[in-house]
Amino acid sequence: MTDNKITLPESEIPTHFYNIQADFPTPLPPALHPVTRKPVGPADLAPIFPMGLIQQEVSLEPTVEIPDQVRDIYRLYRPSPVYRARALEAALDTPAHIYYKSEHVSPVGSHKLNTALMQAWVNKQEGVKRLSTETGAGQWGCALACACKLMDLECMVYMVRVSYDQKPYRRIMVNTYGGNIVASPSELTEAGRRALAENPDSPGSLGLAISEAVEDAIKRDDTKYALGSVLNHVLLHQTIIGLEAMKQMEMAGEYPDYVIGCHGGGSNFAGLAFPFLKGRLKGTESKLRVIAVEPLSCPTLTKGTREYDFGDVAGNTPLLMMHTLGHKFIPPPVHTGGLRYHGSAPLVSHLLAGKFIEAEAYSQEDCFASAIRFAQCEGTIPAPESAHAIHSAIVHALEAREAGEKKVILFNLSGHGHFDMAAYEKYLSGKMGLDA
Ligand SMILES: *Cc1c(COP(=O)(O)O)cnc(C)c1O
Repeated sequence: MTDNKITLPESEIPTHFYNIQADFPTPLPPALHPVTRKPVGPADLAPIFPMGLIQQEVSLEPTVEIPDQVRDIYRLYRPSPVYRARALEAALDTPAHIYYKSEHVSPVGSHKLNTALMQAWVNKQEGVKRLSTETGAGQWGCALACACKLMDLECMVYMVRVSYDQKPYRRIMVNTYGGNIVASPSELTEAGRRALAENPDSPGSLGLAISEAVEDAIKRDDTKYALGSVLNHVLLHQTIIGLEAMKQMEMAGEYPDYVIGCHGGGSNFAGLAFPFLKGRLKGTESKLRVIAVEPLSCPTLTKGTREYDFGDVAGNTPLLMMHTLGHKFIPPPVHTGGLRYHGSAPLVSHLLAGKFIEAEAYSQEDCFASAIRFAQCEGTIPAPESAHAIHSAIVHALEAREAGEKKVILFNLSGHGHFDMAAYEKYLSGKMGLDA
């Protein structure tokens, strides 16, 4: 019997990220300037991002090196284990083998620190002193605040109002790491003041908070903006997840039939899936099913249209070719804050359009039921976002039982749910309500 917990030594922390763009059969449509609608060049992005990340955004090199200082800090929590969910398999009475990559073991409790550290490092190299960002449920704000402190940078976080009120602990975590955090819409920016004038009780949205954080960076010389998902360089940094997982599955002597991740902006899904997709893109691997899972209440990939759209509400960001519900879309205030984004990663959208991956959407109720089933078998209480991946894994494990087939399922446990207990309480007391 193979180990339950498949671990790699620190010496096996990958030295390079995997750049999936290098293997695309058709090129990714370029990002367009919001006013001229011509492809954006480095000069357009320079007020917002450091040049090192702008280069990674468009790089066609097959790999990008991970700097020693970043690898060194990764050793705090990487390589993260892959677990075989034996108790869950038994409870489901399925012949399927279920594995999960455990990104919840990072100090901030999610995968987001992987890119936060890399982004902080590149900014630091270029003399940037302060990073501004937005955060939905708070995970990204925590990750960036932690990374900024470890790299000796200042951090300014605009947090979506509904989460700021519902989830005080992540806000306090940002402060604990020495970062600044305000509720968005705020009075600090024009975009925020405009939103407050329209609706003083605005619950905010990720798109609106992005508008505020970008405006903050544009107006200050010492500040750049950092994004926790969606962009090519963010997904690139997250491929460390899948690169490790490929080695770990090899150690387990298995190859997945399904690779599954929840999808908000696309980064944890891409991080696990992209290294596994290399074979499919090259035509050497055909049976692998790669599935992005989203909430029914924000069905970007399953119901959105693929077109050029803004990343924010105000229309300040470049236009990205992606599956989108429209940049004015404000999703209902469901608890899976990290999945409430109107758009998707252009890289993920391109793969979906090319039928290399699939998308599924599930209700919040079903996902919480599966999260609780998982917690009661495996011990870890998952983030409500990760619960979407868990639910899909369970759906496919039950299909395997019906078909009497031994399928191998690998999903990404993108984070733990320790700061989401209020949502669990709502579910357990039957007060969650339907979100679709
Ligand atoms: C932010 C977050 C997500 C969603 O973002 P992606 O970029 O789609 O990964 C999912 N799970 C957790 C735990 C998160 O913190």
